[in-house]
Amino acid sequence: MKVVLLGPPGAGKGTQATGIVERYNIVHISTGDIFRKNVKEGTPLGKQAKAYMDKGELVPDELVIALVQDRLKQDDCKDGYLLDGFPRTTFQAEAMEKLGMAVDKVIDIQVGKDVLVGRATGRRVCKKCGETYHVSFRPTKVEGVCDKCGAEVIQRSDDEEATVARRIDVYLSETAPLVDYYEKKGNIVHINGDDDAKVVQEKIFAALD
Ligand code: ADP
Ligand code: ADP
Ligand code: ZN
Repeated sequence: MKVVLLGPPGAGKGTQATGIVERYNIVHISTGDIFRKNVKEGTPLGKQAKAYMDKGELVPDELVIALVQDRLKQDDCKDGYLLDGFPRTTFQAEAMEKLGMAVDKVIDIQVGKDVLVGRATGRRVCKKCGETYHVSFRPTKVEGVCDKCGAEVIQRSDDEEATVARRIDVYLSETAPLVDYYEKKGNIVHINGDDDAKVVQEKIFAALD
């Protein structure tokens, strides 16, 4: 099964991805996570991506496409994958098609703008294992400490309010056109992501089963 998760920043893509990959036994590929790892490690790719990410802009298509193409060639992708945060532009979607990177189903998680800002600005992530929390909706048991591994839980630098607003605008102008793109292909399912994470999960499973 080859699935794409579409949705604005804070929609719950990462949160939903965890349950999806577990249920269908496929690989989770988050381009945002890959970029953040490269930034942290100070790789050449990380150095190139950082400036764009800090501003809430998209990393140039060529960089992202090469990265994903490389990742999908690896052995663990043979039986399926979940792409989280890619494609994000029509150019990326067309490149995928040309390069033979298959998509069976697109899950479009829809959430209202007011809800998005609260979700992204309240998001906290574990520095070590990457587990995602929310100050109100999914707090850690001990403030600032990861339930899973005990490491420090921090705010992503691009989750500050002004950058979140910019990212939502970029989503609307660059990524939202993909909804139409996949609508024409007939393989997209729209899921209301305003509900509780568990309810959203059930709706996604029902669409994919
Ligand atoms: P969110 O899940 O909150 O939408 P991501 O973790 O997916 O955020 O992405 C963080 C940042 O990484 C983006 O703002 C962008 O700069 C960069 N990025 C991730 N995926 C892509 C992509 N497919 N194309 C361009 N830039 C990307
Ligand atoms: P994305 O990957 O789409 O940017 P995340 O999965 O990281 O979004 O979710 C953004 C924030 O909102 C996180 O702090 C997460 O814990 C929280 N969250 C995710 N889904 C829900 C939901 N259905 N209801 C409330 N909070 C949620
Ligand atoms: Zn952790």
